This record gives sequence, structure tokens and C-alpha cells, in this order.
Amino acid sequence: MSKPAPLFSRLALIGVGLIGSSIARAARTQGAVRTIVATARSPQTRRRIAELGLADQVVETNAAAVDGADLVIVCIPVGTCGVVAREIGPHLAAGAIVSDVGSVKGSIVRDMASHLPNTVYFVPAHPVAGTEYSGPDAGFAELFVNRWCILTPPEGTDPKAVEKLAAFWQLLGANVEIMAPDHHDLVLAITSHLPHLIAYTIVGTADELQAVTRSEVLKFSAGGFRDFTRIAASDPTMWRDVFLANKDAVLEMLGRFNEDVSALTKAIRKGDGDALFEHFTRTRAIRKGIVDIGQDSPAPDFGRPHPDLPHEPLPKPHAPEKS
Ligand code: NAP
Repeated sequence: MSKPAPLFSRLALIGVGLIGSSIARAARTQGAVRTIVATARSPQTRRRIAELGLADQVVETNAAAVDGADLVIVCIPVGTCGVVAREIGPHLAAGAIVSDVGSVKGSIVRDMASHLPNTVYFVPAHPVAGTEYSGPDAGFAELFVNRWCILTPPEGTDPKAVEKLAAFWQLLGANVEIMAPDHHDLVLAITSHLPHLIAYTIVGTADELQAVTRSEVLKFSAGGFRDFTRIAASDPTMWRDVFLANKDAVLEMLGRFNEDVSALTKAIRKGDGDALFEHFTRTRAIRKGIVDIGQDSPAPDFGRPHPDLPHEPLPKPHAPEKS
């Protein structure tokens, strides 16, 4: 039985941190690409990529990385994607698919599209999967299994390019959804960006409390605080860029959130137990819905992949071609 043909011949990864290195590992495991060429900003990270054997070739510049690649995935903080698109634009091979993994999509389309030649297909993507860890050591092949990857092709993108990138992500274990970039940003503002902002806030607030010592905060953290500390440990550069790039949608969601906090504050002040009970019953049902659709499990912290814990297995590589 012959092995299935790889979907792409040469994958260029620009940036090999948590997400880039997970793509490299999964693409290798699944035979999704024939060769991988990678680069990162610093010599230290480039050396580490080579030591870990994450790519067939590690090169020094972004321009060199994209040379001859038929799939380019930019896996760097959102705020630097425009500069990198300008750098690689003149060096892209005709017919290449250019993508990214940024957590914000409207700004990526605005920052990158104008620097890319019209001989390539631009299909931005956001794998909705991650951990609070960073760097090439943090990645693992199963990160995307049963997680969503949202593609946000600008209007007029060739559907064949979108289909091909969708097939790549499916091979890495992800479920694929297609959305308009601005809609993506609104959805992620409430499901991801606002929760991170709340975690960053609450952990900072607890840290500043004079009456509660730091050792008490750590000791009793299992009372709910612990989950916030995990989220608040996420990479500061990445999240700074997310809030700057998705300002409007985050401010919209923050406004609604503040109104709801005010309503709950009032209920507590008035001793309105019915209002509190009704609210908590509604939110409990939402949690049940998330578990029911398989995006988390009732067990604490399941679905949070950790480098030291066993991961969900990758799906079997695509069905072999009949010989
Ligand atoms: P990360 O672990 O910090 O890795 C970032 C990588 O980008 C590093 O290899 C870094 O190289 C490289 N880099 C930075 N600027 C560069 C430049 N100008 N040229 C070339 N390489 C550059 O970050 P990550 O968590 O993988 O996140 C990458 C992207 O994925 C972000 O846009 C983020 O929004 C998105 N994302 C993250 C998650 C998550 O949970 N982390 C989930 C979904 C999507 P050096 O090490 O040499 O600086």
C-alpha cells in the first residue's frame, strides 16, 4: 500500500514558538508536508529549533525561509505580522498559500494583505488552541486535536486555496470553520480576549491586596483563583498585541461585561438571592453545553494540554491512495 502524498511540498514556518513548533511536530507526524524550513527572530531560538529537529532546514532570514515554499505560515505575535509580510512579499513563490495563526484577524488582513503579491493565495487562520507556555520546547503534535481552526479568507480568495488549507488543518486534527475576519474578532473578544483580561486583572488585584498575604493567596488558590493564575501566566507580548489589535471588539465586550457586573453588584447589595440564583443557573447550563459539545470535560483542567501529561492522540493520517 503506497503512502499518501503530502498536501504540500515545502512548508515555511516563520516563528517557531508554541504554535509554530506544534504545527511542525503535527505536520511531520501526519506526513502533511514533504519538507519543513523554519526561522525565528533570535539565533538562540533558531539553534533550539535545530537541536529539537523540528525542521529539515533552519535559515536565518524570513526571506530565505519562504524561498520555494508552497505553504508559508507566519507564527509570530500579531503586531509584527505586517512588517514580516513586507519582508517576505517579494520572495514568495507564485501559487503559494500564505497563512498565519494570529489570535486577531481583522488587523492581520489589514496589515499583511497589501504586502503580498497577487500571485499568492492569502488565507489567514487562527487555531483556537493553546497553553500558557511559549517557545519551541512548549509545542506538541496533539495541540490541535479536536480544537477549532478558524479560517478568515478575504473576499474573493480562491476557494481551492481555502479548501487546501482546511485539509491541512484537518489532517493536524482540527475542526475547521470559515468566518469573516471582523466576525472572528467579535466572537473571540468574548470567548478568549475578555477572559484573559479578567484573569490578568484579578491576579493583579489579589497581588495588591494588603490584608491578604501572598502566601495565603497561593495556599487557598484552589478556590477558583488557580485557574485565573494559569490564564494570567500567558505570554505578555502576545496578549499586549491582541488587545491593541482587537481594541474595538474588546471594548464593546468590556462595556457589556461592566453592565453585567454592575447588575450582579446591585443584586448582592440588595440581598437579591433570586437574581443571583437565576444568573448562576443560566451560566451553569452554558458550562454543560460546552462539555456536551466536547470542547471540555467535567474533569478539572482536562482539555488543557500540558507538556507533562499524556495528550489526546492524533487522528490517523488521511486514507492511503489506492495503488
Ligand atoms: P511564542 O511561543 O512566543 O513564539 C513566537 C515565535 O515568533 C518565536 O519563535 C519568535 O522568535 C518568533 N518571532 C517573533 N517575532 C519575529 C519576527 N519578526 N520574525 C521572525 N520570527 C519572529 O508565540 P506563540 O504562542 O506560538 O504565538 C504565536 C502566534 O500564535 C501569535 O500571533 C498568537 O496570537 C497566536 N496564537 C497563540 C496561541 C497561544 O495560546 N499561545 C493560540 C492561538 C494562536 P524568538 O524566540 O527568536 O523571539
